Formats: sequence, C-alpha cells, structure tokens
Amino acid sequence: MKRRPLLAGNWKMHTTVLDACHLAADIAKSCSGLGDRDVLLAPPFTVLNQVAHMLAESGIYLAAQNVCWEAQGAFTGEISPLMVLDAGGVAAIVGHSERRQIFHEDDVLINKRVRGALAFGLMPIFCVGETLDEREAGETFTVVERQIRAGLAGVVPGDMEHVILAYEPVWAIGTGKTASKEQAQEVHAFIRNLIVKMYEKNIADQIRILYGGSVKPDNIDALMAQEDIDGALVGGAALDVESFGRIIHFQEI
Ligand code: PEP
Repeated sequence: MKRRPLLAGNWKMHTTVLDACHLAADIAKSCSGLGDRDVLLAPPFTVLNQVAHMLAESGIYLAAQNVCWEAQGAFTGEISPLMVLDAGGVAAIVGHSERRQIFHEDDVLINKRVRGALAFGLMPIFCVGETLDEREAGETFTVVERQIRAGLAGVVPGDMEHVILAYEPVWAIGTGKTASKEQAQEVHAFIRNLIVKMYEKNIADQIRILYGGSVKPDNIDALMAQEDIDGALVGGAALDVESFGRIIHFQEI
C-alpha cells in the first residue's frame, strides 16, 4: 500500500526575511500543478509569518522547527503551538537529532513536545534515528524502538492520524552520506511493524514515514520507490530551489 508522498524542507537556521520570501516564492512556483503529493516547508520561527503569506494558495504546508507543549508562559526561548498556528503553521518538527545532540533534548522532553503539538492541533513530524556508533554496535533497531516508544508514550490511537514519523540516521544528516535505499527501507519497515505492535495495522498502514539524511536530486527517486518510504525530510538541498524542485518532482523508479 502506498501513501500520499510528503516532501518536507527543513531550512534549519538559515534565511533572513528577504531570503526566505524569495525561496518560498520560487518553491511555490516550482510546485504548481503537483496534485499527487504534499510539500511542506519548515523555515525558522522568525520568518514563519512572512513565508505563510508567500505560500498562500500554493497548497504548500508550513511547519515550525520545534514547539513547546504549553500555550504560553515563562518558557524563555520557546514557541507555543498557538504561536505556530497563529503564524500559519500546521505542523512542527520534533526530536530532530540536532535538538537531541546539540541541545540535549531527551526522550521525555520530546514526548512532551509531541503530545503538546497534538493537543493544540499541530501535526508533529517526529524524528528518530541512530548515531554511527549505535549503528556500528548493531543497536539501530533498539535505539529507534526506544525513541519511538518514549516519544509516543501517551499518544492515543485517535491522534496517530496526525503524527508524521521521520527516520533520520544521524550519521547521514548533513554529511553527504545517505543510507542506501535498502538500509533505509529496512528501518522504515521495522518502524511500521513497531506501530502495528503499539497500535494496530490500520494505523501503521496509514502513517507516513519520511526518510531524512542527505536526500538529494540523485537519490530521491530510488528512496521513494521503497515500499515503506513515504517522503523525505530534506535539509541542505531544501535551500536550493533547483535541488528541492527536483526532489519534489521525484519519479518513482
Ligand atoms: C535534516 O535536517 O533533517 C536533514 C536530513 O539534513 P540534510 O538533508 O542536510 O542531511
């Protein structure tokens, strides 16, 4: 069973207002006429609102790169789900490996973000993935299972239709090393089976699992042809309209 593809661009800590508006407008142009797939952009918080205006009527979805679980309050440096919605966002990346590694966000904190996003009607794009050491120690499945079980703790079956998963092996992010299509498919299939065990087959069949880690124009087609890969979370290549445009227009081979 194939699910509707989702191609998501994570702009990380890049773009001023002017850069962001140009990039969003160019991406919107290159997406026109694509009816069979979804496209989503996750720019920095500071430009969410302007990018939302640039994307109006393009059909492209907007996401934040992280989100707090509270509506408001004394949480310096955080952005609430209501603020993301107010700026035009419908989703938020949660648990990105850069948050886990550089900012020491752990499974418990990430779970609060996942549940917080859902509680306010935002779709979490919940990222998991092993480091190179973990892969080499044969711990990939153990790590991914721990991250998923902890991150989805307390998420009820009825909310799972709003959850998007992203498998992003840490060793492939920003390194130019992509997991082979076989390596990626193997983990995606494992994740889908885990969702069957934790929830039910119907939920596992519907949930979209994105692959992220040095996705480029020259590997997107092969990745998207895999049974359990439903889309891509793209970092570096999402900042270049030509590359991202090609990724959006992938052809399954
Ligand atoms: C990411 O930021 O989620 C990512 C996968 O980055 P890159 O495509 O640059 O590896």
